[in-house]
Order: sequence, then structure tokens, then C-alpha cells
Amino acid sequence: MQQNREMSKGASSPVIGLTGGIGSGKSTVSAKLAKLGACVIDSDEVAREVVQPGTKGLQSLVDRFGTQVLSGDGSLDRAKLARSVFSDSEARSDLNAILHPLIEREIIRQVLACSTIGTLPIVVVIPLLVETNAAERYGFAKVVVVDLPEELAVARVVASRDMTEGDVRERVAAQASREERLAKADYVIDNSADSADLDEQVTALWEELKALS
Ligand code: ATP
Repeated sequence: MQQNREMSKGASSPVIGLTGGIGSGKSTVSAKLAKLGACVIDSDEVAREVVQPGTKGLQSLVDRFGTQVLSGDGSLDRAKLARSVFSDSEARSDLNAILHPLIEREIIRQVLACSTIGTLPIVVVIPLLVETNAAERYGFAKVVVVDLPEELAVARVVASRDMTEGDVRERVAAQASREERLAKADYVIDNSADSADLDEQVTALWEELKALS
């Protein structure tokens, strides 16, 4: 698959998309890959960066939704923003039209910055990779899916986060199915066993990704 034209012009390293459902282990796997030497870009982090105080992103949100989406210290109040767009499809589409290009541009900028510091694989973590057609939009060289049975993902999230089983199942239902995700995978990490097993798989994956360089 061809990489995004802008990325392929500048990036000398393979750019890999990594995804998985809620609680699948994306953060755990990407932290292991980072330890092995991957340059990791987390799209959730980028989404927060582009609306930090002083950014064009935050200003655009205030221009569209008003200062009521700000908290006392001038930062974005995500709960208030969510309330402003809840049950208003036009507002939601405006929100996406503001944020998505900023996030995409910043991811591309970070990919190019990573590629200036070496030629090792670059890993972009995108939870909604399948839902947003990100593999095609970015033209990732390969897609990695972290997979496990839904029951286990739900149990791990409930055990480690302040979320009820109902909350997690609602999120699962709103995301792509396991099958839809697996259909996009070039590599599958099976995270249904323990951390040692995961380590072994991630190390083997890293060797394969490095061979793409
Ligand atoms: P989210 O979609 O919510 O961002 P995620 O896909 O990034 O989640 P992690 O946060 O990496 O998933 O993992 C979810 C939980 O499962 C964490 O508490 C993590 O420590 C735990 N976990 C991950 N892998 C394993 C494993 N192999 N064995 C036991 N627990 C694990």
C-alpha cells in the first residue's frame, strides 16, 4: 500500500497503523514497541495537543461553540463540549470538521519529525482506525490489530478503570466489530494470554516491522 503522498515524500521509515478495540492492549503494546525503539505517535494524545490553550484548534472551537466550552482556567472542558454537540448532528459534524484536519496534519508532522531521527518503523496508534478509514487516508505500510475476546477486554477495563461493565459494553457496541478490525490486519497480536506471552509476540512483530525498512 502506498503511503500518504506527504508522508512518503518525507518519511524514510515504514509507517505502521496500530489499532484494537477498547481495552485490547493498544497502549501496552505500543509502550513495548517504544521500548524496542519504535517512534510511537498516539492519536488520542495528538487530539488533546491540538486543543491545548493557545492553539488555533481551541480558538476555532470557541469561535464555533462559544466560551461555555472552556473551564475556569481557559482550557477545554470536554464534558461541556460533549454536551454542546450531544443530540445535534450539525454541531457534531462542525466539531469533526474543525478537529480532524488539525489532528491529521499534526500526525503527519510528527511522523515526518520521527523519520528525521532515524529509519526505524514509526507506529501510529489509532483506536478508530477501521471506523475512520485511517489505513487508506494515511496509506500505512502495514496495519497491526491487537485482538482478544470481548469478554476479556471488558473484564480488563472494568478491573483497571473507573467504568462500569455497561459503559464498556456500550463503547464496544459503538466500535467496529472484531471481525471488521481483523479484516484490515496485516499482523494480529493476540492479547488473550499474559504479559510474558505478549512480550514475545511484540518482539517477534518488531523484527518483522524492522525488516520492512
Ligand atoms: P483503551 O482502548 O481503553 O485505550 P488499550 O487498548 O490501550 O485501552 P490497555 O490500556 O493497554 O488497552 O490495556 C487495558 C488493560 O488491560 C490495562 O489495565 C492493561 O494493564 C491490561 N492488560 C493489557 N494486556 C494485558 C495482558 N496481557 N494481561 C493482563 N492484563 C493486560
